[in-house]
Amino acid sequence: MTAKETILGVDVTQATYESLTAELFQRINDQKQSFIVAINPEKIMKAQKDEKLRTLLNSADYHIPDGVGVLIASRLKGGNIKTRITGIDLMMRIIKEAANQQKSIFLYGAKPGVADQAAENVKQQYPDIQIKGTIDGYQKDMDDVIKTINQAEPDILFVALGSPKQEQWIRQYRNQLKVSLFQGVGGSFDVLAGNIERAPAAFRNLGLEWLYRLIREPWRWKRQLALPRFLIRVFFSRKGNHKPKT
Ligand code: UDP
Repeated sequence: MTAKETILGVDVTQATYESLTAELFQRINDQKQSFIVAINPEKIMKAQKDEKLRTLLNSADYHIPDGVGVLIASRLKGGNIKTRITGIDLMMRIIKEAANQQKSIFLYGAKPGVADQAAENVKQQYPDIQIKGTIDGYQKDMDDVIKTINQAEPDILFVALGSPKQEQWIRQYRNQLKVSLFQGVGGSFDVLAGNIERAPAAFRNLGLEWLYRLIREPWRWKRQLALPRFLIRVFFSRKGNHKPKT
């Protein structure tokens, strides 16, 4: 399995889109389960005060470095994370590969109608993709949700309930589900459905999505203070806290 390193006690996977996608599909073919969580500075900071959250994040199999802050932190600590892997971009890579390898997907989460619209847009982009179904993220009857997914038998399940709800959900139900690959994808269905715009590519390529969001939604500035706080904390924790793991 791909190597990991630890940033302030939270695991982060060292990988690229290519290496990770190849490994994930190998595991689908080997009928092994995988659970992918996206790690960003905000989650790492929350996990400092919340031991349960830290355990939950570390219980995933793959922890993608979603955010330029994680890359800077890794560099500060002499780590090896060189590429950002965003949740939505990995999801799109997985979908593309699923269409190529004839693996099926299922979308669970977001407001009623959103997953359906996202599925329609995905199908337009990848006509070969097998979409086994969708369920919105506000269904109360979990037995029913589990039953519906199991009857559909998808290889891949994207879960968009927001964080940490989606991670708790995956951890709680993965053993009951006949699914190989689970990815928690936050607000990605809203983006795929066209309800939320992503930052333009120029901002994304420079790792400046946060700046774009700050300009568009200035009231988020308080949330964004998490990034400098996080980097200061990483800087002062450099000695002894960085334990590369395999
Ligand atoms: N959501 C859901 N069920 C819930 C709570 C939230 O399906 O009980 C959905 C919500 O509609 C939205 C997504 O989860 O589509 C959360 O998106 P957000 O961008 O807040 O997630 P983040 O990545 O910031 O955790």
